[in-house]
Amino acid sequence: MTKVSMHEELPFDETATPPRVSTGDLPIHAEIRQLVTEAYERYRGDDSGTVADYIPVLAQAAPGLFGIAVVGPWGRSFEIGDVAARFSLQSVSKPFVFALVCDTLGYEEARLRLGVNSTGFPFNSLMAVELNADRTMNPLVNAGAIATTSLVPGATHDEKWESIRARLSMFAGRELTVNAEVYASESSTNMRNQGIAHLLRSYERLYFDPDEATDIYTRQCSLDVTVHDLAVMAATLANGGVNPVTGETVIRPGVCRRVLAVMASAGLYELSGDWLYQIGVPGKSGVSGGIVTVSPGKGGLATYSPPLDAAGNSVRGQLATKYLADRLGLNLFASVPAEGPPTPF
Ligand code: GLU
Repeated sequence: MTKVSMHEELPFDETATPPRVSTGDLPIHAEIRQLVTEAYERYRGDDSGTVADYIPVLAQAAPGLFGIAVVGPWGRSFEIGDVAARFSLQSVSKPFVFALVCDTLGYEEARLRLGVNSTGFPFNSLMAVELNADRTMNPLVNAGAIATTSLVPGATHDEKWESIRARLSMFAGRELTVNAEVYASESSTNMRNQGIAHLLRSYERLYFDPDEATDIYTRQCSLDVTVHDLAVMAATLANGGVNPVTGETVIRPGVCRRVLAVMASAGLYELSGDWLYQIGVPGKSGVSGGIVTVSPGKGGLATYSPPLDAAGNSVRGQLATKYLADRLGLNLFASVPAEGPPTPF
C-alpha cells in the first residue's frame, strides 16, 4: 500500500468530464419562504448565550437582533428578521481571504504554507502554534488566518488590503467598507493577535511584516455586512465560485471545493466536529454573531444573532441553521435507500 504523507497531494483528476457533483435542488420557492419564516418564529424567543465583549464595541450589540437569509444558485433570496442590521464580518472573513490566497498561490501551495487540519484549541490559541510542528494548522483560526492574510497579493500594506476589500466585495456583490468604530476598538485591544503574528514570524510561518499583517487582518474582520451579504457570499461558494446575483466569477471551482473542505473541518471553532455531525454542511461563524453555511450546488444560508455559546458560535444561528438544513435538504451526508431493483455495475 502506498503511504500518502500529509504534504503530498492526493491524486485527483480535475479534468474528469462530465464534472460530477453529488447534489440536487432546493425545494420550491414557496416552501423555502415558509421554512425560513418557521425557523425565525421558532427561535427568535430563545435568549440563551452571551454577546461577545472581548472587543469592547461588540458588547453594544442588541441581543435580540436576529436575521436569516437564504440565497439560491439563481440568486433569488429569502429573508426574514433584522436583515438590514449591519455587523462586522469578523471570522467569517477567513474562508473568503483563504479563497483569495488559494486563487493566487494555488490551493496546494496554500495547504503547504497554512495547513488544513483543525487545531482542537480555541481560535486565538498560542498553544496551538507552540504544539504543532507546522505552527499554523488551518486558515480559519487566528494564527492561520493572519498567515493567510500575510499571503494575499500585493507588495505593500495598502495593496494587500485593497486585494482583500475588492475580492470580498465581489463575493458579496457590493462594495464593502470598514466599520471604523469596530476597527478602532479591535485595534486597541488586539495584543494577542499581534503576539500570534510575531510568534509565527519567529517560526518563519508569516509572510509579511507582523504588525502590518495583523492590521490588515483586523480591517478584514471589521468589514461591515448584513445577513443578506453573508448569504450571497455563501451562495458564491455554493455556486462553483460564481456570484449568483452579479454573475461574476469570483474564484475557480477547484478553489471553491477546497475552501469548503476547510470550513467543514474547522469552521465552528472547537465545535466544528459537532456542527458537521449534527448539521452536515460546511459553515463559518464569527464573534459578532454571523454564521454562513454552504450547501454545494444548492445555495447559501446565513444567520445573524449576537448571543454566542461558550465556543463563540451564535446560539440562534446554530438552531435556525439546523432546522433549515434538515428541512431544505442541506446535509451533505444524508441519503435515502435506493428504490427498485439493483442496477448492475
Ligand atoms: N477579529 C476577531 C479576532 O481576531 C475575530 C474572531 C472571530 O470572529 O472568531 O479576535
